[in-house]
Amino acid sequence: MLSYRHAFHAGNHADVFKHLTLSFLVRALLHKDKPFFYLDTHAGAGRYNLHSEMARKNREHESGISRLWDEPSPPAGIREYLDAVRATNPGRELRWYPGSPRIVRPWLRDPDRMALCELHPNEAHLLAAEFAGDRQVRVEHLDGYQGLKALLPPPERRGLVHIDPAYELKDERKRLLQAVREGYKRWATGIYALWYPIQDRATADDFLRRFKKLEIPKVLLAEFSVLPDEPFRLSGSGMIVINPPWQLEEQLRAALPWLWERLAAGGQGRWRVEWLAGERERGAE
Ligand code: SAM
Repeated sequence: MLSYRHAFHAGNHADVFKHLTLSFLVRALLHKDKPFFYLDTHAGAGRYNLHSEMARKNREHESGISRLWDEPSPPAGIREYLDAVRATNPGRELRWYPGSPRIVRPWLRDPDRMALCELHPNEAHLLAAEFAGDRQVRVEHLDGYQGLKALLPPPERRGLVHIDPAYELKDERKRLLQAVREGYKRWATGIYALWYPIQDRATADDFLRRFKKLEIPKVLLAEFSVLPDEPFRLSGSGMIVINPPWQLEEQLRAALPWLWERLAAGGQGRWRVEWLAGERERGAE
């Protein structure tokens, strides 16, 4: 039984970090004319009302997107991400926070395609309504790991797979790693972006160790925390990027200090970008 609802967390520091990274990844795909495919295995509802009861419960966006909303001159890179958030808010007021499919959608060109899997019946219903009539978007009420098997490799042969589970099931990390192993076997040239939460450091490190055992050759890691690690509290989150596009490392290194200055609670937490595997395996922080 799925109980997680992303509306409780929409627009928090983890969403900002994840969606900023996604915006870098999808924009890199625009450098070539050839069409691309975007697969979101855990797509959520598509957009979230920050005035809803769920969002108002913990007001997580107040320590995330709300702190950036009125920034007069955000640096290039962050500006494009904020523009994608603004595209969901026609007025001056920040009322809606776009989920990952809505963040990515403005960058799709005519021949590009998007497939969205969502298992929770309510969220799947909202997602289908959000993209009703959009012929470039296919919404599937489906287990995202099944979607990965069914939809890869895509005929376009270029694109991005975003894997962003809720981590509410005990064996989520195991299922995710199995799915990545199989997905990568089917399509080794795609870009994959895997989000994970950071609560206690030991769990995150164990997950990274297990990921490394997949022996995927080119992998960039970025983490962004706004609080010290502590069990049962989301202090930060990470993105594992398989086959990162050229310059993603530099883009993250330029953007994350700016973001951290604005979102970290009194200089707590940290950010890091390093290679988990690849030519620059040593990493450099
Ligand atoms: N990707 C979204 C975004 O960035 O805006 C947020 C996704 S939220 C963290 C995780 C979503 O996965 C929830 O909406 C949940 O209902 C859904 N979910 C959980 N298990 C799933 C599964 N096996 N397959 C597809 N969706 C699943």
